[in-house]
Formats: sequence, structure tokens, C-alpha cells
Amino acid sequence: MIQTIGIPGGLMIHRDGVLWKNFFEQLGFHCVTSRKSDRQILEQGTERAVDETCLPFKMYLGHVMELMGKCDAVFIPRMGGFKTREKMCTRYEALPDLVKNIFRDEQIPVLTVSYDWYDRTTEEKVYLELGDKLGKTKKETKKAYIFAKKQQEAWLKSREKAQNQLMEKEGTKVVLAGHPYVLHDAYMGGELARILEKMGASVLYTDYVDRDSALKKSYDFSRVMPWLINREIIGALMALRKKADGIVLVSAYPCGPDALVNDMLIRRIKDLPVLSLTLDAQSGTAGVETRIESFIDIIKYQKAGGYGTKN
Ligand code: SF4
Repeated sequence: MIQTIGIPGGLMIHRDGVLWKNFFEQLGFHCVTSRKSDRQILEQGTERAVDETCLPFKMYLGHVMELMGKCDAVFIPRMGGFKTREKMCTRYEALPDLVKNIFRDEQIPVLTVSYDWYDRTTEEKVYLELGDKLGKTKKETKKAYIFAKKQQEAWLKSREKAQNQLMEKEGTKVVLAGHPYVLHDAYMGGELARILEKMGASVLYTDYVDRDSALKKSYDFSRVMPWLINREIIGALMALRKKADGIVLVSAYPCGPDALVNDMLIRRIKDLPVLSLTLDAQSGTAGVETRIESFIDIIKYQKAGGYGTKN
């Protein structure tokens, strides 16, 4: 019988974690989350992953291991996406299978549900199915979903509001653009924000904007691009660039969608300096500090009128 549900502290927890946690807790379950990412979590995940796996997935495996013995089931949704042009990368479509297979000796109990665009489903239907799997009635589940959805929206609104206030302040502003689970992971993008702030820059995030308007805007950039999160990043960038002095485009090695989209982005953004960083399992953020320092210097020179001025 499931009483405690484990939520790995990687991948989409940084986007949908408030919804998940509130949903389960409203239904009477206890939730445990793995601790913040660090070198040790990455190393244990890397040991279990195949070489060509992307850095966030290696980190995710480390988080799954952290939950072993601490919960009755680990929540690992299968995320396909809801629309033809708003899909997740293939790794998400196979996530519960990949985890079950990698940890087949440990036989980790996995609680899963499918967000699958092929079924033309809705998010609410996904949660009704999840509640049913957990033995809850439709009425209880719907109530929990509505409550959790409100919490998630309030959480995002509060971040959006704080970011809007930051945008109106004086000083250098830099957009950190990337997948939420790279930007907000304590070991990956968290370090980048710290370095930028140490250099006196305010950090704006591509995931702290209204998701629906970001998605809509992304279609002005590309009508055919298939990935939901890359669409959200691009749409947010289109809005945030007006208030920013530079963009740090962050990717985790080897990300297929980013490899295509980020190259296109760099070629299309002509009015702002862009620093493109790819983080990998070997170096993490080591070595990027100097590159960020130079980037901030360039921004400051540009704001002062360019090279050759007395400032
Ligand atoms: S989108 Fe990229 S970083 Fe995210 S899981 Fe897929 S390959 Fe990894």
C-alpha cells in the first residue's frame, strides 16, 4: 500500500513540482523529495547511465537512487506532450521504462501516468487517471487537482511578478535561458546565477513568464518546431529580450533539441550579445566563471558606448 511517494529532485520537478506535491498531499499521501543536486548525486547517476545520456538525466538517476528505501513508490510520469508541435523530447516518453530497466536489480516501485499527446488527452484527465491508480474517487481526485493547479499557478505568478519588478530596476540584466531543470538545479544552472549575481548582474529566467503567452509567441519564431520546452524558452526570450542587456543560453550535453534550436536562436538574435554555454558531466560549471566575467565586461562596455570610450 502506498503511503509515501518519492519525487526525484531533477528534471520536471523544477517546472511542475508544486502541482505534483500539492496533488498527492491533498489526496492524503506523504511526499519526500531528494536533497538538492550535488557532485555525489551526479556521480551516482552517471555510474548507472549509458555514456551518451544527457547530463540532466544522469542527475535524475542519482536523485532516484537518493529515494531508495525512503518511500513506497517513486513518481515518474511519462510525458509525451499534448499537441503535435508541443511535445517533450523522447527521453521523457520513455522515462519510467528507462528507470525501471536501469534499476531492474533493485526493483524500484514506480508510480507512473502517461501525459500522451497521441491520446489527445487533457491534463485533468491525466490526473484523474493517477488518482484512480491510487485508489481515490473521481470527486476526491478532481478536488485535489483543482487545488494543486491553483497552487502551481500562484507559485508561477509570484515568480513572474518578482521578475517583472526586477526588470524595471536599473543595472545590468541578463537572461538565463534554458530548460528549467538545468537553470534551477543547484549543481548546474544554480552556479551560473550565483556567478552572474556576484558580477553585479540581475538574473531573469525564461521559465518565470506566463507559459501560455510564451508558447503563443514561439510560433512567430517557428511554426514547425516540435518541442514544448524549447518553445517556452523561445517565447519567453522574445518577451524578455526587450528589457535585457544580454542572454546566457545554457544547454546540457548532449541535448538533441537544444543542438538544433539554440543554433537557430543565436543566428536570429542580432540585437543582444549571446553567450552560449554547454554544461557536461565532467566539468559542470568549472571554467565558465571566466567566460561569464568577460561576457559581463562586454555588456558593460557596450552600455557605456562601446570600446574606445573613456568608460
Ligand atoms: S530535452 Fe535535452 S536535456 Fe532535456 S531530457 Fe531531452 S536530451 Fe536531456
